[in-house]
Amino acid sequence: MSRAVVIGSGPNGLSAAVVLARAGMDVEVVEAADDAGGGLRTRELTVPGFRHDVCSAIHPMAITSPFFRAFQLQRRVEYLAADISYAQSISPSRAAVAYRDIERTAERLGPDAAAYRSLLGPLSERIDDVAELSMNSLLRLPRHPVTAARFGARVLEQAGPWWRGRFGSEDAPSLLAGVAAHAISRLPSLSGAAVGLALAAHAHAPGGWPAPRGGASAVAGAMIDDLLAHGGRVTVGRRVDDLAEFADAEVVIADTSARELVRLAGERLPDRYAAALRRFRYGNAVAKIDVALDGPVPWTRPELAAAPTVHLGGSWRETLHAENEVAAGRYPDTPYVLIAQPSVVDDSRAPAGGHVLWAYTHVPSGSTRDMREAILDRIESHAPGLRQRVLGVHATTAADEEALNANYVGGDISSGAATIAQLLARPVLSPQPWRTPAAGLYLASSSAVPGPGIHGMGGYLAARTALADRGVAVPELGLH
Ligand SMILES: Cc1cc2nc3c(=O)[nH]c(=O)nc-3n(C[C@H](O)[C@H](O)[C@H](O)COP(=O)(O)OP(=O)(O)OC[C@H]3O[C@@H](n4cnc5c(N)ncnc54)[C@H](O)[C@@H]3O)c2cc1C
Repeated sequence: MSRAVVIGSGPNGLSAAVVLARAGMDVEVVEAADDAGGGLRTRELTVPGFRHDVCSAIHPMAITSPFFRAFQLQRRVEYLAADISYAQSISPSRAAVAYRDIERTAERLGPDAAAYRSLLGPLSERIDDVAELSMNSLLRLPRHPVTAARFGARVLEQAGPWWRGRFGSEDAPSLLAGVAAHAISRLPSLSGAAVGLALAAHAHAPGGWPAPRGGASAVAGAMIDDLLAHGGRVTVGRRVDDLAEFADAEVVIADTSARELVRLAGERLPDRYAAALRRFRYGNAVAKIDVALDGPVPWTRPELAAAPTVHLGGSWRETLHAENEVAAGRYPDTPYVLIAQPSVVDDSRAPAGGHVLWAYTHVPSGSTRDMREAILDRIESHAPGLRQRVLGVHATTAADEEALNANYVGGDISSGAATIAQLLARPVLSPQPWRTPAAGLYLASSSAVPGPGIHGMGGYLAARTALADRGVAVPELGLH
């Protein structure tokens, strides 16, 4: 049986491992951290009994990902979605709400109802086509050209100074600004529009923006169970420093950053390719807090208490200002804070009555600033009394993010800036960007197409490429 090694156990490493093991290879996953999962880990970071997601908490793309569909993830992990996908807290007395039901969302937007519906309806109705387009190489001929054309036209509309042109009021653009800010880029911009529209379309799709019951580690657990059932194994606590450690492996899949791949491969990569990987840019960063609460966040707007995801960005103007300050390398006075409240839908995350709060804000790359007070102050301004509910806080700076996971260079949780150029050429311009010039070596992480998020597609596509290179068919991935 030929041997395959996967370096890194994030969703992309594990998806590659599952595919190769099911194809009959002898697979070992080697992980630097003491626990497996990468962006899929849940831990008691604050107070015993309070289970916090170390990285990802909300997984819209896991529902539509072609890999997770084939893997039948939803038969293995229960996904919990609320009626509200996300909300934008505009002021202590005003919130805009993205319900899963686009009609309900549009109704609440009053005079902008038709404009909002016509922007997102055609995308959320064809969410599988949007997923197929956005979770693969953008250099292919699109399989669903009508959806691709609609998506592209809307990206161009939402990327320029005219982006609010179709709206007359503040709420719809504020909702869209909050979701575009996930791109951690200047706004408006092509990447903000592309990331924002893909995520906003998911918000109005049947799966919404769900949280996995038990936390993100439930997803890693399901993938590892499948790997073990097909003869694979996982070694934790071993950081790989040189690919020479795996000279006997026919296939090596790196779920590492592009930068780490250059370090590990050394002379094995041709100079031109190594230089291209060195030119790959990393973006700005996040600083995060995890909080144990003895009750729900005391939002002044009741809708926010029912929203698993809250964008605390103020109006669209404030959101753009905050993100553009970070893009310029500064700390905004009123930061945009991205909040997940998974215990709104999942009572297994905290002891009875308690809640877990997950919140991060964007900061310049490499920042060592502890943002706990800034984030708590910002939330408190829209939820007075929050601090009285706090039982424990765990803070992670951007520099800590990289120390915990080498993929997050400078605290960039996308493992490579999500600019349009780097979404097309990720990490290099190629229809098969997962294959490196070194025989048997592939890149699977979010430094490769399609980029960040819990979808497992980088690993799936890297493993498929490795199998195709050996004339081996892609195996069946479902439960049997
Ligand atoms: C704070 C935070 C919040 C996030 N929130 C969300 C969210 O809510 N929803 C969402 O969809 N996405 C979210 N993301 C992004 C998501 O987690 C990532 O896009 C995703 O995990 C990337 O998967 P990956 O497999 O490419 O890499 P990772 O999940 O980062 O895993 C890479 C693994 O490789 C290991 N590794 C690296 N180098 C080596 C080496 N040399 N030797 C051995 N092991 C190595 C690392 O330790 C790590 O475990 C978040 C990320 C962070 C950090």
